[in-house]
Amino acid sequence: MTPIFANLQAVRARLDGAARAAGRPPESIRLLAVSKTKPAEDVVAAVAAGQTAFGENYVQEGCAKIGQVAALLAAQGSPTTLEWHFIGPLQSNKTRPVAESFAWVHAIDRLKIAQRLSDQRPAALPPLQVCVEVNVSGEASKSGCAPEEALALCQAVAALPRLQLRGLMAIPAPVDDEQAQRLPFRRLKTLFEQLQQAGLPVDTLSMGMSHDLEAAVAEGATLVRIGTAIFGPRIKKEIP
Ligand SMILES: *Cc1c(COP(=O)(O)O)cnc(C)c1O
Repeated sequence: MTPIFANLQAVRARLDGAARAAGRPPESIRLLAVSKTKPAEDVVAAVAAGQTAFGENYVQEGCAKIGQVAALLAAQGSPTTLEWHFIGPLQSNKTRPVAESFAWVHAIDRLKIAQRLSDQRPAALPPLQVCVEVNVSGEASKSGCAPEEALALCQAVAALPRLQLRGLMAIPAPVDDEQAQRLPFRRLKTLFEQLQQAGLPVDTLSMGMSHDLEAAVAEGATLVRIGTAIFGPRIKKEIP
């Protein structure tokens, strides 16, 4: 068994335990494996362990890896269909390759980015699945729209023809204590319920990373984004 295979089993066990503790069915939480800075071979190792959804943060790296992984799987004679999620911050001049290569985008924080992604989504592909990122940590974080802007932004995004709004995403400022970790996740869940009350058909709460997945699941995460706990620490310098 490769280390990545064992790590994936351990993460799935953590997720199952957190779901059970929260009285939730484990299959109500999706696992996104975050492979940023890691080679295509590591993704293939995770595929061998049954993982099919992967997250990338950088446009060039992500698009290249999608092609490399497909080539490696084809060469193995195992052409598994994977689902690629773009989870990093997105500049407006880099939306086109994302609209063309990814199935999901998690960090929409302004309408301009959403409009460009909708305009650039190829007609032959299904609508791009998107989440709006909300800054639920106040001053401690710079990414995401303000909580009071979230409903209006979500309504505008939901109206775009080539996007399908799935829900909300957040990256809270890191803290160690589980009770403290839960507060921003609870804020995101409350906003999510407001979207549902406003009639938006959202089903995805993208929250929780390697260090806080238990807190996120306790507060209702439906998709957790896990990198380090699956692929090990990232040593390469991260270029935004
Ligand atoms: C890197 C990253 C993750 C994964 O973080 P880990 O702590 O390695 O699990 C999740 N979400 C986003 C947006 C990231 O940039």
